[in-house]
Amino acid sequence: MGAAKIRKKNGTYFGQPNHVPSEPTVGTVGGYRYTESQYQEFIACEEAVVAIHESSHAVAAFLLKVPIQGMSFYSPEHPRATVAVAVVEAGLPEPEMLAKSTDERWVHGCEHAFISLAGVYGCSREGFSENPFHKRQRDSHIDEASSNLYHIGCVPTDEINVELVCLLGAVIQIFNKPIVQEMVRRLANEFLNRRKLDGAEIKQILQQVLESGISEESGRAL
Ligand SMILES: [Zn+2]
Repeated sequence: MGAAKIRKKNGTYFGQPNHVPSEPTVGTVGGYRYTESQYQEFIACEEAVVAIHESSHAVAAFLLKVPIQGMSFYSPEHPRATVAVAVVEAGLPEPEMLAKSTDERWVHGCEHAFISLAGVYGCSREGFSENPFHKRQRDSHIDEASSNLYHIGCVPTDEINVELVCLLGAVIQIFNKPIVQEMVRRLANEFLNRRKLDGAEIKQILQQVLESGISEESGRAL
């Protein structure tokens, strides 16, 4: 394929949706082409971003009083792309949620969509990043939130986007609060050190932050 046409108008180049990387792309992730430096940028802080991402999921579940089973790091054998992967297990078993009334299911669907969106729009900032690896995460979490609304919450497909926008606004507003950022920061630090936390340990760490308030470190952007 030939080079994309770029025209210049009023001193600004346009004609392509994003800036054109000056270096060649070396691979694709989630449908996005990435350059070597984008990959290097991603892996340089990957573990810290993963810890903040998973802690944001856990803090969202804690705030909603959704039961949290635990969180752990594991390293799948992926030679390239994600080397640090972590998971948070939270919520009631799916069959239990699906057996409830339509209204209760809507509440569970919204809770789970909120928890999904918090991973990328909480404190990790992946949702706002231009890095293709973070865009992949953003897309998969938006898909997950949509699926939570549809399958658990019984939200009709033509209403899902409106619900998502409302929940996204709530996630951004709540994770902008200093006390919530402090909860994420403290949990992420513990998670990086201990690699695995069970639900009771997570609750204890977050409860302690609520009781002791914000440390001197707070105010520093995550
Ligand atoms: Zn996630």
